[in-house]
Amino acid sequence: MNIESAKLALKKYFGYDKFRPMQGEIVQAVYDKKDVLVLMPTGGGKSMCFQIPAITLEGVCIVLSPLISLMKDQVESLKANGISAAFLNSSLSPSEQNEVENAALNGSLKLLYVSPEKMVSQSFLPILHQAKISLFAIDEAHCISSWGHDFRPEYAQLGFLKKQFPQIPIIALTATADKITRRDILAQMNMQTPEVFVASFDRPNLSLEVRPGQKRIEQIVDFIKQHPGQSGIVYCLSRKSTEELAAKLNMKGIHAAHYHARMPAQQRAKTQEEFINDNIPIVCATIAFGMGIDKSNVRWVIHYNLPKNMESYYQEIGRAGRDGANAKTMLFYSFRDVTVLKDILTGDENAGSREHVDLKLAKLDRIKQYAESLICRRKILLSYFGEHQQGNCGNCDVCLDPPKVFDGTTIAQKALSAIYRLREQVATGMLIDVLRGSNRREIYERGYNNIKTYGAGGEYSTYDWQYFIQQLLNLGLIEIAYDQKSILKLTAVAHDVLFKGTTVKLVRMVSLKERRAAQKVKAKKPVSKRQRVRDELFERLRQLRREQARERGVPPYIIFSDATLEEMAAMRPTTAEKMMRVSGVGEKKLQLYGQLFMGCIQSFLREKSGEGIGILKE
Ligand code: ADP
Ligand code: ZN
Repeated sequence: MNIESAKLALKKYFGYDKFRPMQGEIVQAVYDKKDVLVLMPTGGGKSMCFQIPAITLEGVCIVLSPLISLMKDQVESLKANGISAAFLNSSLSPSEQNEVENAALNGSLKLLYVSPEKMVSQSFLPILHQAKISLFAIDEAHCISSWGHDFRPEYAQLGFLKKQFPQIPIIALTATADKITRRDILAQMNMQTPEVFVASFDRPNLSLEVRPGQKRIEQIVDFIKQHPGQSGIVYCLSRKSTEELAAKLNMKGIHAAHYHARMPAQQRAKTQEEFINDNIPIVCATIAFGMGIDKSNVRWVIHYNLPKNMESYYQEIGRAGRDGANAKTMLFYSFRDVTVLKDILTGDENAGSREHVDLKLAKLDRIKQYAESLICRRKILLSYFGEHQQGNCGNCDVCLDPPKVFDGTTIAQKALSAIYRLREQVATGMLIDVLRGSNRREIYERGYNNIKTYGAGGEYSTYDWQYFIQQLLNLGLIEIAYDQKSILKLTAVAHDVLFKGTTVKLVRMVSLKERRAAQKVKAKKPVSKRQRVRDELFERLRQLRREQARERGVPPYIIFSDATLEEMAAMRPTTAEKMMRVSGVGEKKLQLYGQLFMGCIQSFLREKSGEGIGILKE
């Protein structure tokens, strides 16, 4: 088999013109009968690496997949592209299982997805021996590592594959890239002189944004209103806050549901399904949500609270934009979240050994640094995963709206002097109250109203002060004594600022009011006619996709991805030949939906012909 036939299959079945980076090399390695390990981020395009060989090689590809819902989704996607695929797991009745097994034996299947239990069961072994197998694909291969969170005991038994089927290549795939996991996979699978492919973990279509955690709900409501009709997830730290937030959004007329582990299983499954089918656009959830689903058209992910480390953060935002179209991510950051997470990490009885806790705290510190960064965020994110990005990304808040630096010496002096006069005995909250001249009873009781800096910072809001103090911490002017109720202490450098005239540069926070004003200006800017037409047509196509999905009982993204609809709206194809040029339209989909979607485009063009909008030239 050669790579040219692989490319033809990519176009014919999936409607894609070219392989993404590494996909081609990986397919070639499989053709060369090599054992392969693939490390690629979520949404990177791992499935194609075994699906293309499966389609083009003789026999059936056995795919091990740990999640029933994912299996179903992948099989549905394959079938929608005219590829014969099936799955075997406990959700099928014995007679259904029989039917699938027969299909595998008589060679009518190209891909067979099996659950871990099935894969290692004695009853399945004869099938493996009798069927003509092209390839074993081990998805979510990190489940083999007892070090990870997703350890599956059945995965640890997979060594038998290479022993009993030495001629059949194995491809193992995962989005977890750490070295221990990598080593475990290679060793436990008994892979023979494997080729390891490590793709870049960058996901350039995901925008990165961090905002101060003030007035979060108002900000979320604003954001959702600017992105109507899109699918999104808001991750919250606690079960209670998922419920509260969803309720508040609904009160504002935004359709949202909540999701957390304590909900009855049935209700959880229903919420997930409604989300997948685009019937519930927004879910406020704890981090468990989204793990078992492949929904490719999640257009945004918001973190209501700071995640506990960079790995979780990246995995969670990775659930957005899997179709490759632009997607937005937004993280709310407040110092309070750091304190809460610290308490959780250190207070938990199951936290483990001292080293374990220290490691977790160090990881928390890294994401805190990310959130407080004043340089390109993608740079920091990628460097955490061991990649170096040259230059700035142009798709994060720091790149798009660089922080405005000003001379903050007076502000710093006020804060430092107040800490000094308060004898380094108060935490952030009290310091800000003193600076702002609050009338809290405690202040009078302690006589803090008599110090010289009482009320000296009234011109700034509490949020502004929190932001300044966070910067003073990062600049090393103050320290937090975590073991003494988080009171603030001055460092040696602080004395230079107070007494030796050292200047301090600070960054001012953009307030919600300013954000809204900027948004208004942006909204007033006229959109080009071309863009308006595109948006309008995209909406119509999306509506049609929804209707078709309902009729056929499949999720909308299985019919066409958002990326494909966007391209259709831009290219407005009205002939089969042009339709086939749209990325994501293969032969089967052209046959099933081509007429319908072209019909929709044609009637749109007829309506708009008065405005001088017609079929696009080449
Ligand atoms: P992963 O399993 O790595 O999370 P998927 O295999 O689900 O990622 O792929 C993510 C998305 O990218 C899917 O919608 C898939 O159809 C699309 N995709 C994969 N390979 C290509 C390609 N070569 N060209 C265009 N789109 C692709
Ligand atoms: Zn950037």
